[in-house]
Formats: sequence, structure tokens, C-alpha cells
Amino acid sequence: MPNATDWELAQAFEKAASQDESLKGLTYPDGHITEDWLCIDCGINTAPGVHDGKTVLREFALGAESVTDHIGQDTEMYMVRDAIWKGAGMQPFGGCLCVLCLEKRLGRKLKPKDFDWTHSFNDLPGTERLLSRRGR
Ligand SMILES: [Zn+2]
Repeated sequence: MPNATDWELAQAFEKAASQDESLKGLTYPDGHITEDWLCIDCGINTAPGVHDGKTVLREFALGAESVTDHIGQDTEMYMVRDAIWKGAGMQPFGGCLCVLCLEKRLGRKLKPKDFDWTHSFNDLPGTERLLSRRGR
């Protein structure tokens, strides 16, 4: 659901939870968990070592205190400023875009000042192209 709002995602989550025994009793965490990490334009997995939202919820439900993720050179987890994301036609938490698809939508390359430097995602390791756009 690339253009789903938080509310729509919450509805979808509740529906999934009511149909999936293992998710029973879980509530949707205010839209602050990403359903999956697939680029909504090209379908590439931007975080192959990172669990999707449903897996994370399931593991927490099973008593895990944290879910270990692998974040490395194959990962494109980043956060750009709201205006940039909006400029690409994206909703907050409306899905993932890989660096190339975001640039395609914007019609230009990303610059370090496009990133939201208050967000911890931008301290994570990532692909070469992500690091080169971020400038670190
Ligand atoms: Zn893409």
C-alpha cells in the first residue's frame, strides 16, 4: 500500500491481526513501524538484513526484547527532510524508496542537506551511493 495513510495502515494491520493467530492481541504502533522495506517504485529490498514490521511485531509478541538487524553495505535506510519526501509525492511512512527512485522522482541527485540529520537512520551504514549522497 504505497500511498496508504497511517490510518489505512492501522486498519490493514488490525484486519491482518484479526485473521492471523500469531498477531492476535497486538495493536498497531501508531504507524511508526514500516511494513516492509521494498522500494515501492522498483521493488528492490532497501534493507535485506532488517525485519519487516510484521516480523518485528511477531518477535516482540513472542517475548523478544529487541530484534537484531543486520545493517550494512546493502542497506538503504535513510531519512530525508519532510519537504523532500513530500516533493517526491510521498506520505510520511508511505513506504520506502531506494535512493535512485527517490532521485528519479525528484529529477535530481540528493544532497547532504536533503537529509534529516536529527534522525538516527542517517548514522547507519549503507550502500556506496547512499553514503556518497549523504556525504558521510
Ligand atoms: Zn527503487
